[in-house]
Amino acid sequence: MSQSRQRRHLLIAEDEAHIASSLSERFTAHGFRTTVVTDGETARRAAMSGRFALMVLDIGLPGEDGFTVVTRLRAASSALPVIILTARDAVADTVYGLEGGADDYMTKPFSFEEPLARVRLRLRLRLRETDSSVLRRAGIALETRARQAYVDGRILQLSAREAALLEHLMRNAGSVLSREDLLSDVWGYEASEGSNVVDVYIRYLRRKLGASRITTVRGQGYRLEGDELA
Ligand code: CA
Repeated sequence: MSQSRQRRHLLIAEDEAHIASSLSERFTAHGFRTTVVTDGETARRAAMSGRFALMVLDIGLPGEDGFTVVTRLRAASSALPVIILTARDAVADTVYGLEGGADDYMTKPFSFEEPLARVRLRLRLRLRETDSSVLRRAGIALETRARQAYVDGRILQLSAREAALLEHLMRNAGSVLSREDLLSDVWGYEASEGSNVVDVYIRYLRRKLGASRITTVRGQGYRLEGDELA
């Protein structure tokens, strides 16, 4: 399948037949291809196939529910954009879904303009990111351009410097990097006696990633723990 066709192929995971067929028909009318699945496990497997540009995911699916699907996708380092469908009154579901790694949400019932606008927005954001490679190391997926890291099913938004530091640590996962090297490789500074900027940013990253992922090696520097932690 060509890149451009894949970009127009949507996965719709929805067990209510009238909603699934109405979404499918209308997306098709706007030039998309769609595949409908009706249970959570099938949705997760299809989402991992690399065939789709985006998934519209109902939270109330039989088998694995939508929360489980999106959390497991992110845990498996899938960066597929996911828009969750929740009931109008289920604000907690929406928050939970976004924390689990969904990119956006829609509350049911909705007019068709809303899903179309949201899918187009997500795909546009996606296109802007396609020239950034996704780096996967040590159980972390880092989208360098978007400065987003996927860790333990969570999406972390990073500052430019945090992302640069994390990328450098990931490329050297398992090795000890000295403060001086980090200062020169990530900040471009000559080693300056007494600067604690590296320690400050390591602290920021630990707060976001979880403290155990970055080890302090006394007298030597810092080490991002390798894949055995993932
Ligand atoms: Ca449902």
